[in-house]
Parts: sequence; structure tokens; C-alpha cells
Amino acid sequence: MPIVNRIADLHAEITGWRREMHMHPELLYDVHRTAASVAEKLKAFGCDEVVPGIGRTGVVGVIKGRKAGNKVLGMRADMDALPLEEETGLPYKSTVPGKMHACGHDGHTAMLLGAAKYLAETRNFAGTAVVIFQPAEEGGAGGEAMVKDGLMTRFGINEVYGMHNYPGLPIGQFATRPGAVMASADHITIELEGKGGHAARPHLAVDTILVGCQIINQLQSVVARNVDPLDSAVVSVCMFQAGHTDNVIPQHAILRGTARALNDETRQLLRKRINTIVEGTAALYGAKAELTYANGYPVVVNHERETEFAADVAREIVGKDKVDTNTPPRMAAEDFSFMLNERPGAFIFVGNGDSAGLHHPAYDFNDEVIPLGTSYWVRLAETALAG
Ligand SMILES: [Zn+2]
Ligand SMILES: [Zn+2]
Repeated sequence: MPIVNRIADLHAEITGWRREMHMHPELLYDVHRTAASVAEKLKAFGCDEVVPGIGRTGVVGVIKGRKAGNKVLGMRADMDALPLEEETGLPYKSTVPGKMHACGHDGHTAMLLGAAKYLAETRNFAGTAVVIFQPAEEGGAGGEAMVKDGLMTRFGINEVYGMHNYPGLPIGQFATRPGAVMASADHITIELEGKGGHAARPHLAVDTILVGCQIINQLQSVVARNVDPLDSAVVSVCMFQAGHTDNVIPQHAILRGTARALNDETRQLLRKRINTIVEGTAALYGAKAELTYANGYPVVVNHERETEFAADVAREIVGKDKVDTNTPPRMAAEDFSFMLNERPGAFIFVGNGDSAGLHHPAYDFNDEVIPLGTSYWVRLAETALAG
């Protein structure tokens, strides 16, 4: 595999950074230790500019090429971990109870740091490489916070790229696709109010458990009967809370769930149908329903030309037949979508091999990915900014 030689030399050092980060996971925007360590490293590498505090705790590093050029390339990694207890038993396992790098963002950050070190050392390109380290990918929309804080305009970014490791995809393989590659994920909360009462006198009550069950059943018709069978969508109720004992019909119930789609048209259809079903079903039984439908991350839409470019760079690293440019879209979500809505670019998956799945307590980022992912970043910069 033609990984960049200098990157092979840096493998051990980057692995060290990754494992150190793994031992000290931080959540959402509270990534102070990680962000400080990233900023300190970027300064030590000799980046032309290191700017912390973009999108609260995001960090941006600016590296100018040796040759003149106007193009500015953005490369993004995420820094945050997840609220779960690690069960890997690794020597470098999390030292923080209830927090764990279970999505591999430690690996993403370490690889982009490795690329920054190489690019600041060699500067064999024209124009500017901008390395972006974002907080709060896991549900906090840190990518959106950085965009709102002027990320694209302040640094003059023309194109932006992102990468995520993927368990089950073999080491040494990349996968991506033009168009929708990951879903939108909106949040549904349904608060039901019926009429509580004695379980022996149901005719005098309005049973929120029955109403909630009917709503859940009706919601299954949205994907089955409203969405085009050739399109994809998910409507899942994942929480239903009601009642405290066996002889009281509960006055209140609460349901929560997720609605996901791969395009905005379907996303709007889900919203409309869910609203109609919740209101109509509650009314049918004489209950009151309050639906809160909160927009989450938008669809991750890869731009065509930039996706082909990213795939070409990956092919150069791992070989022609190891890059799948027709991988099926995932119904999971990613807030890199906010960046792709601002600038052309592409999101690519890099194989993490036969590891536990993302967000699993036994998951670990595979350090064998480091030379591949880091080489991808440096060749992406050197090629996009060839001048
Ligand atoms: Zn995740
Ligand atoms: Zn992730």
C-alpha cells in the first residue's frame, strides 16, 4: 500500500496521541482538555494560525503552502466521546467512569493531527490547508455551532471534507457515494393527556396507554404506506412511559422517538404525517396530544465532483478495487451535514475492520487505520492544492 513514507514514520507517535485521548474522553462541548491538547500540538507543529473557541470549544489550524495559491481546503475531525462505560479491558481504556471514546473520534482527531504535522513540515502545496477539530458531534450539533461562528467565511474555506471509521468495512478499504450518504435525524416527543381513573371503571377514563399504543401502531403506516417503496425512511418510537401501578389508568403518557430520511421531501412528508396521526388518533379517543417535532441533523449530502475526487485520492492510497463509491446510504446521522450544506465536499468511510460496532462498550478504534487515514488527508491536501 503506498502510504506516505513520512506518515509511516509517524505511526507510533500518532498512536500515542490517540491512546492518550482515549484515556481521557470528554462529552459534547465539554472537550476542554482535548481541545487544549489539539491547539498545543498544532502550535508546536508550526501552523501559521491556531484559533481555539470556534463553536465554543472547536479548534482550527491554518497551514499555508510553500507555493502561492488562493484555494482553501477544509478537513474536519470530531473530538467528543460518548456517555457509556467502556468494557474493552485495554491498557489504555477510559479513566473516566461513564465516558468512552466509542465512536472513534479519538482516532479521527489523532489522524488529522498527524496530517497537520506532516503538512506543516512539508508545505508541498499551493494555497491553504485548514484543519478543523469540532466538539459535540454526538447530538450537540458542534458542526453547526462552528459554521454559525463563521468557520467557512472567517477562514475562506472553499471545499470541506470529512472522514469516519466504519466497523465491518475491512482495514485498507474506503467507501463513499455521491448524494445522500447519511440520513437526517429528527426528534419526536409526544405528550399525552387523557383522564386518569380506577382500572375497574375504564369507561369513565381516557386511557393514555391505549392511545399511545394506537399512535405507535398508526405511525408504522408512514413508512409502509406513505413513503415511496424505492425511497428510505425510519420512524421509531423508542420510549413509552406511563403509569405506576396495576390498578390506576394513567392520566399522562410520554412517547419519544426518531424520524429519519435521505432527502428533504421525505423528511417533510414524515413530519406532516406524524403530526396528522398524532392529532387524529388522540382526538379519536378523546385525549389531548402535544407533539414536539425537533429538527436534528440534516441529511449528509456528498457533492458529486468532490466525492469522485476524494475517491481518487483514496484509490491512490489503497488501490483501485479497495474504494467503493456505491456504498449504501446509512440511516445514522452526522453533523458534518451542516458543513456540506455550506460548501462543496465529501464524507468518506474508512474501514475499521472486524471490530465491535460504533457506540458499543467493546468498541475500539483500530490503530492500523492511522497510516491510511493520515495518508488520505495529506494526499487530499497535496492533490486539491496542487496549484
Ligand atoms: Zn457516534
Ligand atoms: Zn462518530
